[in-house]
Amino acid sequence: ASASEEKDLIIIGGGVAGYVAAIKAGQEGFKVACIEKRGTLGGTCLNVGCIPSKALLNNSHIYHMIKHDTKNRGIDVGDVSLNLQQFMKAKDTAVTGLTKGVEFLLKKNGVEYIKGTGSFINEHEIKVDLNEGGERTVKGKNILIATGSEATPFPGLEIDEKRVVTSTGALSLDKVPESLVVIGGGIIGLEMGSVWSRLGSKVTVVEFLDQIGGPGMDSEVSKAAQKLLKKQGINFKLSTKVVGGDTSGDKIKLDIDAAKGGKPETIEAETVLVAIGRRPYTQGLGLENIGMELDERGRVIIDSEYRTKFPHIRCVGDVTFGPMLAHKAEEEAVAVVEYMKKGYGHVNYGCIPSVMYTHPEVAWVGQSEQDLKSQNIPYRVGNFPFSANSRAKTNLDSDGFVKMLADPETDRLLGVHIIGPNAGEMIAEATLALEYGASTEDIARTCHAHPTLAEAFKEAAMATHSLPIHM
Ligand code: FAD
Ligand code: NAD
Repeated sequence: ASASEEKDLIIIGGGVAGYVAAIKAGQEGFKVACIEKRGTLGGTCLNVGCIPSKALLNNSHIYHMIKHDTKNRGIDVGDVSLNLQQFMKAKDTAVTGLTKGVEFLLKKNGVEYIKGTGSFINEHEIKVDLNEGGERTVKGKNILIATGSEATPFPGLEIDEKRVVTSTGALSLDKVPESLVVIGGGIIGLEMGSVWSRLGSKVTVVEFLDQIGGPGMDSEVSKAAQKLLKKQGINFKLSTKVVGGDTSGDKIKLDIDAAKGGKPETIEAETVLVAIGRRPYTQGLGLENIGMELDERGRVIIDSEYRTKFPHIRCVGDVTFGPMLAHKAEEEAVAVVEYMKKGYGHVNYGCIPSVMYTHPEVAWVGQSEQDLKSQNIPYRVGNFPFSANSRAKTNLDSDGFVKMLADPETDRLLGVHIIGPNAGEMIAEATLALEYGASTEDIARTCHAHPTLAEAFKEAAMATHSLPIHM
């Protein structure tokens, strides 16, 4: 490579992990190149993940509300119909606006954005197969792997993103399927299942475990979520495993087995969504050329400072350890640049919130009741229902509760689990409290505006160490 091609930092992948690291490194005065093959920045999250799914969730919720929930609010509307093409266009507009915004931010921070596929030639040089044709080589003092993840395929069911889809296909169906079977009742299954159920599909979620929500969701909250989603029309088959499928007929046939020895069954659907988790993506990266180590799940092995076995090659985001969440990737991206620049950085892995954007939303941070039980950690529980919160009642939207877990001796907050309207915004307060080591009394003594949903958060804190007022 020529001298002009040498950078302080080369980032492979322009997703949340990669683009945030690029901006931060630019701010710190690094000469940075960010290589992305997709053609747009923002990765899974902006293109086919967080952002488009939230656009569809928001607008399908509005549609569903107008169709089913206006009469008792005193709003009479005429015929309501769905224009799916425009509905998808609204989503695409949000995505394009944001991906272009990221491109602008890279430029503003002096980052060179290279459109192409990067692969290791050796420990310092990356070959880029340019999207426009041809190739170039870039050399880096530091290299950051931020290549993200992809949907885990289901063995025996070929994904065509039309009839058998991953979340990517489920974000762009060109008609509302009459029936949709979702394999996997994790966050993707429940968010995308909610979208299509609201738009009129008959949705069945088949989940291997005996609870929905994927790993980490508090069992009490998970049960409440299942009950509310069932009321909205989603069917659940829990403790049930999909064991095979046949796509040859008009309808797709899925063979399912009850995990606890029930009768095997075959169910049919027009469309099947495979949502059984995601796996790290390192295909075509040339890791074999440098003998990079992966663990048994394909994750790049790193130490606590995000270093691989080559100290100048680091790795963050979905392609390595930890929860596959955009905000986790973002925290790591900032920290990894701080490690490079100053030798220290910080991410508190005990304090990363999770949000499921169904209605009502589910959000949590810290330990769940089952986590604490399994470690024999003593705890106290405080619970406050939204049905006793004035704002939720006023809004005619009062399903759910706030649940707090605290140390019985010190009253220190250990975990917060919310199911209810705006839980995803409210969890920020819980995260801040947990990060600062607050007690539930600290929260209860903090004045909360009235009438707000957040008062339920304060009253749950009161319920944890003392008594709430409105119950
Ligand atoms: P990615 O976003 O996957 O980015 C990696 C990028 O690297 C990709 O753009 C890829 O094209 C590029 N790349 C890979 N290999 C190469 C190569 N060799 N050369 C050049 N480029 C390469 N998380 C949340 O926190 N909240 C949500 O609401 C949420 N919703 C989601 C909804 C869906 C449907 C999905 C699928 C995921 C969702 N997630 C959500 C998860 C979130 O999208 C990921 O955690 C996040 O995108 C991880 O960022 P990343 O940068 O590590 O990886
Ligand atoms: P997940 O791991 O959350 O859930 C997958 C579910 O599929 C699990 O509950 C598992 O038991 C089940 N399963 C696996 N094999 C099965 C089988 N053969 N039959 C029936 N069930 C089976 O994964 P996901 O929902 O695909 O999401 C992938 C990642 O994307 C997660 O890490 C998630 O955090 C992230 N994501 C986050 C958000 C958000 O933050 N709002 C939204 C979407 C995705």
